[in-house]
Amino acid sequence: MKCKKILDNKQRCRAFAQSEKDFCFRHDPENQEVSKLSSQKGGQNRALQGFYGKSVRLNTPEDVKKFLGQVINGVWAEGVPVPVGSSMGFLTRCWLDAYEASDIVKRLDEIEEKLKLSGSG
Ligand SMILES: [Zn+2]
Repeated sequence: MKCKKILDNKQRCRAFAQSEKDFCFRHDPENQEVSKLSSQKGGQNRALQGFYGKSVRLNTPEDVKKFLGQVINGVWAEGVPVPVGSSMGFLTRCWLDAYEASDIVKRLDEIEEKLKLSGSG
């Protein structure tokens, strides 16, 4: 479930609500003090809470390539924290591994199918 907080720009907060609560950690009235503290502390805490762009749809390695380009520019020129960039690098690596693995399985299936067809015909 998504957080129920309506932000200053009239958009609803896009973070997930905490389990069994209506708000995300940041907007939970019970956490206001903690939240203020972590905002003041800045650095690491904020790095873990931010939004750095719109959602992205990754269907092909080409999409991943474009996304990584955005991330790199974000870290390099737009102040996106380096740990965020590192996580995205790691996750896209996982994505590519998974893509590659499923692509290989798909090709093997196709080859098997062809072998079956030529065997019976
Ligand atoms: Zn929220």
